[in-house]
Amino acid sequence: MYLYNSVSHKKEEFIPRDPNLVKMYTCGPTVYHFAHIGNLRSYIMEDVLEKYLRWLGYPVKRVMNITDVGHLSSDADTGEDKMLKGAKRENKSVMDIAAFYTDAFFADCEKLNIKRPDVVEPATNCIDEYIKIITKLVDTDYAYLAGGNVYFDTSKLEKYYVFNEHNEEDLAVGVREGVEEDTNKRNKNDFVLWFTKSKFEDQALKWDSPWGVGYPGWHIECSGISMKHLGEDLDIHCGGIDNAFPHHTNEIAQSESYLGHKWCNYWMHVLHLNTSSGKMSKSKGEFLTVSLLEEKGYDPLIYRLFCLQSHYRKGLVFSWENLDNAKIAFEKMIAKIAAIKPEGEVDEAGLSELRERFKKALDNDLNTSLAITAVYDAIKAQTNGATKLAAIADFDRVLGLDLIAKAESKREQDAKAAKSEGGYEIRGEGDAEIDALVLQRAEAKKAKNFAEADRIRDELKAKGIEVTDVPGGAVWKRV
Ligand code: AMP
Ligand code: ZN
Repeated sequence: MYLYNSVSHKKEEFIPRDPNLVKMYTCGPTVYHFAHIGNLRSYIMEDVLEKYLRWLGYPVKRVMNITDVGHLSSDADTGEDKMLKGAKRENKSVMDIAAFYTDAFFADCEKLNIKRPDVVEPATNCIDEYIKIITKLVDTDYAYLAGGNVYFDTSKLEKYYVFNEHNEEDLAVGVREGVEEDTNKRNKNDFVLWFTKSKFEDQALKWDSPWGVGYPGWHIECSGISMKHLGEDLDIHCGGIDNAFPHHTNEIAQSESYLGHKWCNYWMHVLHLNTSSGKMSKSKGEFLTVSLLEEKGYDPLIYRLFCLQSHYRKGLVFSWENLDNAKIAFEKMIAKIAAIKPEGEVDEAGLSELRERFKKALDNDLNTSLAITAVYDAIKAQTNGATKLAAIADFDRVLGLDLIAKAESKREQDAKAAKSEGGYEIRGEGDAEIDALVLQRAEAKKAKNFAEADRIRDELKAKGIEVTDVPGGAVWKRV
């Protein structure tokens, strides 16, 4: 498989350090509010990557943190603590907010068929890990104390900007309006490993440390949690593109300085989902959540398909119209699968040919839209129903669209609808797609839409189907 690596800016062949265990780390949510569907785009695409690795036969261990402390509203250690902000907003304790929104996050994930990672670790569980890493960084002069906080000294590194050559002036916190520059920092992009002097007197969560009572910075949590569960190296680290700088850049700086060797081989970043008016936001206007999609009558898996239709390295624009198009595509796909008769024995050669097409798509840096095309290839393939359905079920292990279950329930619904349609009975040769067309024709006639009824009759004729109206129903046969 070839995967784009944000460090080399190239598609690289994916070669795990140990094919018997692929180590994957994902930056988890900051649990101060519901996840918006932009956040969930990142998690859907990372889920596809994990499932595809498993599909290829790799055992995967995936770890995710839950940020319940230390993430300030600006990623550069300034602004308000997000958890505190959430607690104030809802007049609850920080721990209550964290528990509530962690559950809400996984409930959303379940609706979107995003598998729960093997290990999910709240940042507040691993304080000892952070202290261990920071202690060594201080001892080896990679970190310094200033004004009561512990900072990472970025000038100690030969190459700090691993993803891009940034212009330091552009990134300087002080130049941003309304944000105070932290005068304790020796270099503009030094970052806090441990806060003791916090401007938040009411910081709820504090722990004792060699540098005084305080709390960890945001970046150190991912290094600490990853090392706790995955050891000293990692195969793939993922996150949304906004995480590349400063979060992942800082993770690499502190991890490699601590370990004394390379830490992670592949960095996968998902581009953002935005609205036509700009950035996805949790505070402005309509807050786009999975619940909102459901309230508006959309099955959350329509949103999953919407994400899969685009490449993860392209920005994606959300609009209700775009979602409606995904809904239509999803319904068509399900109807087509529902119309496949599960007959014959699986033809192994035919199945492996279909699997090859699917594999080719995903091997090319996870081309999910071509993987969806591979589902249509299976639907149209010159093979029997059992083989088509076996291929679709197999692809859905990665796509996670519940294709087979949804097709079955569509078939049942159509059968019920046909029966309840004033006792309208269709007798044919057992083909759900044809039954559906015959029923549509009957409905058109009932509504006195004869043009539509004739159009459907012609469509059926073109398919070699002859329909005869009989009292209380219709009979069709292939001629
Ligand atoms: P947060 O809860 O803010 O820590 O973000 C959770 C994940 O969502 C991170 O991997 C972010 O990079 C990612 N993310 C944030 N905004 C978007 C967006 N608009 N589109 C896609 N991913 C996003
Ligand atoms: Zn992280």
